[in-house]
Amino acid sequence: MHPIIIKQRRYFQTQETKSLKFRIDNLRKLKQIIKKNETQIIFALNKDLNKSKYEAYITEIGIIYEEINYYIKYLPKWIKAKKVKTPIFYFKSKSYIISEPYGVTLIISPWNYPFQLAIAPLIGAIAGGNTVIIKPSEYSTNTTKILEKIINNNFSEEYINVITGNALETEALLKERFDYIFFTGSVNVGKLIMEKASHHLTPVTLELGGKSPCIVFKDANLDLAAKRIVFGKLLNAGQTCVAPDYLLVQNSVKKVLVTKIIEYIKYFYGDDYLKNLDYPKIINKKHFFRLINLVENKTVLYGGLYDEAHLKIEPTLIENLSEDDKLMTEEIFGPVLPIIEFANLHEAILTVKTKPKPLALYLFTKDKKIEEKVFGTLSFGGGCVNDTIIHLATPFLPFGGIGESGIGSYHGKASYTTFTHQKSILKKGIIDIKFRYPPYNNKKFNLIKKIMK
Ligand code: NAD
Repeated sequence: MHPIIIKQRRYFQTQETKSLKFRIDNLRKLKQIIKKNETQIIFALNKDLNKSKYEAYITEIGIIYEEINYYIKYLPKWIKAKKVKTPIFYFKSKSYIISEPYGVTLIISPWNYPFQLAIAPLIGAIAGGNTVIIKPSEYSTNTTKILEKIINNNFSEEYINVITGNALETEALLKERFDYIFFTGSVNVGKLIMEKASHHLTPVTLELGGKSPCIVFKDANLDLAAKRIVFGKLLNAGQTCVAPDYLLVQNSVKKVLVTKIIEYIKYFYGDDYLKNLDYPKIINKKHFFRLINLVENKTVLYGGLYDEAHLKIEPTLIENLSEDDKLMTEEIFGPVLPIIEFANLHEAILTVKTKPKPLALYLFTKDKKIEEKVFGTLSFGGGCVNDTIIHLATPFLPFGGIGESGIGSYHGKASYTTFTHQKSILKKGIIDIKFRYPPYNNKKFNLIKKIMK
């Protein structure tokens, strides 16, 4: 067994991680440590992905502070046993639910929001009273180093520890028994994680990706739609799990919308995106060339240039794609937006329906009937009406996928629920009603039929 897992298992048995005070103290401590190292974290994010100070703060740090504040406020309420009703035929009894920690948990995180996606689940794990091993991505090397430093220098390894390594080392780690595994990453690796977890029947959360559509109807406010689509698509240069992956636009407004999208791209990042210091880069050569290959020989409506030395790709709009083109079958995860036209609601729904259930869906319309039809028909993780991305930055909405885009959810109270087992207790009084016991007879049978009908 891995020595840290042995230590964490022993430590968990001491019960120390379970008290409310311990959990709140460690959430406060986590926030202080992040505050103290804020500049270094921002610097690392800039080195890994060329994230601007502003973008790094809102998407990786500020969002974490908000989540910790929310937890410090509400955890005292959530941690209490929750009373629930009891059926009358169990008279006289009480029923309640205790949220108990799972024990030794494992968090595996990706490279695109390398700080936030390791720390956000950690908040839930600490609040749940667990011990935690974090395995960050080997691609975002600078942020991984900072994570390792700030966590391992400030928390004992028997409680929270960052273990670094590549896929092979993670596969070795996954041979061990964990009590819960929280994975964020690609669909293919997600399948592998679930397979490994099944050997120990370890429960999992899988936060995966996919092709999130953005659908714009002709009645939408096109200017606002363009602005918000460009914001959502170009955040982190499109390397966002919930970025609009492809655009479905009603044919009569395509021209106007595209013109406005180009205007906003220029307004946000100037004419020379490749030189803009606030425009993020692609994580590494492998992903850079994957994207370049996807765009090769396609009808480029706008953009298409790239800078290999700095791993930057211009915001790129593509049209005239067939349904079986890789750009329409694989998650893009970059600043490339395919544009597909549709004639009517039925056609738009059909295009989305033929693909695996996406992580997000964005709908731009003023028509309530269209909204009801789209949400009533299509299955997806979550989304927005008249905006993109922001549904994940609220503690009041659980965030997660469905089908190929994931299993389970987190953020806000959902993280606490994810990292705790709901233990159901029925406390029976001493009044004993005989008719439940054998020997059974017709009188008892007729009585039970009257009660349970
Ligand atoms: P990835 O699946 O390649 O890697 C994720 C993590 O798994 C990393 O820590 C990596 O080291 C580890 N890993 C890789 N191969 C492994 C293996 N064979 N065995 C065990 N562990 C392994 O994903 P990525 O490229 O880092 O991230 C991009 C993907 O993540 C995209 O598909 C994106 O949509 C998804 N994502 C989802 C969310 C979400 O919240 N749903 C958030 C961010 C990214």
